[in-house]
Amino acid sequence: MQRRNFLKGAAALLGAIPLNSALSAEAAPVPASSVPDASAHLLSGSRALAPIIASPDRIIEMNVCTRPFRLQGPRIESERIGRRNVVHNYGHGGSGWSLSWGSGQIAVEMAKAHGRRELAVIGCGAIGLTTALVAQQAGLKVTIYAKERPPYVSSHRATGSFTPDSRIVSAQFAPDFARQWETMARHSFRRFQSYLGVGGNPIEWRDMYSLSDVPFGSPRPAVYSPEPAYPGLEREMLRDITPRTVTVSSHPFPVPYVQRRPALLFNIAEYTRLLMAEFFANGGVIETFEMQDKRDFAAIHERTIINCTGYGARALLADDSIIPVRGQTAKLIPQPEVDYGFFYGGRRVSVYPRRDGLLVQAQAEGDFNNDSEALDSEESISAVQRLGEIVAMMRSTGYNLDKAASPE
Ligand SMILES: Cc1cc2nc3c(=O)[nH]c(=O)nc-3n(C[C@H](O)[C@H](O)[C@H](O)COP(=O)(O)OP(=O)(O)OC[C@H]3O[C@@H](n4cnc5c(N)ncnc54)[C@H](O)[C@@H]3O)c2cc1C
Repeated sequence: MQRRNFLKGAAALLGAIPLNSALSAEAAPVPASSVPDASAHLLSGSRALAPIIASPDRIIEMNVCTRPFRLQGPRIESERIGRRNVVHNYGHGGSGWSLSWGSGQIAVEMAKAHGRRELAVIGCGAIGLTTALVAQQAGLKVTIYAKERPPYVSSHRATGSFTPDSRIVSAQFAPDFARQWETMARHSFRRFQSYLGVGGNPIEWRDMYSLSDVPFGSPRPAVYSPEPAYPGLEREMLRDITPRTVTVSSHPFPVPYVQRRPALLFNIAEYTRLLMAEFFANGGVIETFEMQDKRDFAAIHERTIINCTGYGARALLADDSIIPVRGQTAKLIPQPEVDYGFFYGGRRVSVYPRRDGLLVQAQAEGDFNNDSEALDSEESISAVQRLGEIVAMMRSTGYNLDKAASPE
């Protein structure tokens, strides 16, 4: 895409997205395509939706963690620290899973330029694991050093959907970052497709609905927000590879306006397990090691290191360009028959049909620049209650639970 067009798009977008949107960027709906085609009637028709059982007693897990956001986008660059060549690969905001493969590819290319066959990766989250796998595939011998490993890393507490432009860069810095972002997003998107149809469904496409009380695209009142404006990079630059959004006229939801779009979901439990298994199968080793500050790079045996410490980089490198953006989720007992999710900005709640539990997210005020990892259980309980109220108002879609439960 031409830089000029991107700038135009970004400017238009700034006008379109309120600074304090009730939906987080992760949940922002994409406008319906106006291009008619032969399959449009199939996409916009109604479908039988299994009822979501949403009540607080079904909560099996609540989690809170911080997105490592940088106004200028992730830090992917080389630095000489003592006698080590360190390639930084951190600061992926709300898009760490989504951009992981492409970001790892760029970092590994930089590391390879130092000419060593042995590589250390610091960190075992979404970025560290995928970077390590990319390096192995490039023929390097990789050791991961990390304070924590899955399931105890922040990445494990994410929503788990392909949201490549969620709090990844501010609109101000987007023009400089757009090209690199596009490379990372396209590479990652393609890589994810290779995990479709794999046992355990680590990655799958699921329908997500956007619910609204007002027509999509209606101007919303501007409200003060400490957050910067974000560019709609996915909408601007990935249009040719991502599915379009369609308006659904016949649906069971208790709102007048509904759109539907397939979303790429990560079953983080299974997906992480698979990545770890691949890493070990390729001869990888994981060492438990907590670095206190920059001097500890000298304690790493390998001369070339990729630093994938996520939010941990803020303390490790005294890098206060990393802004914490708090996020809290709750998981409900899995319902394999539920194969759709939705976000409803008006009620500040979204639900994702993950295999490892229905994931409920509330959009809370005050998350930006908030590093509190203290769990606010009321926040999640009230989100589940709001979800239950919405489900209770949904019209029956003729979905037959008994039929769904009976063996094939
Ligand atoms: C609520 C929420 C929802 C999200 N949803 C999505 C989503 O749907 N899609 C998406 O793409 N992204 C999402 N994200 C963002 C995503 O989770 C992050 O971008 C991603 O987890 C960053 O991964 P990471 O590997 O850089 O960091 P981490 O997962 O934090 O991993 C860092 C690793 O470094 C290690 N480490 C840190 N400091 C040190 C140290 N000093 N010494 C040794 N080891 C250290 C840690 O132990 C860990 O192993 C979400 C985030 C939040 C908070």
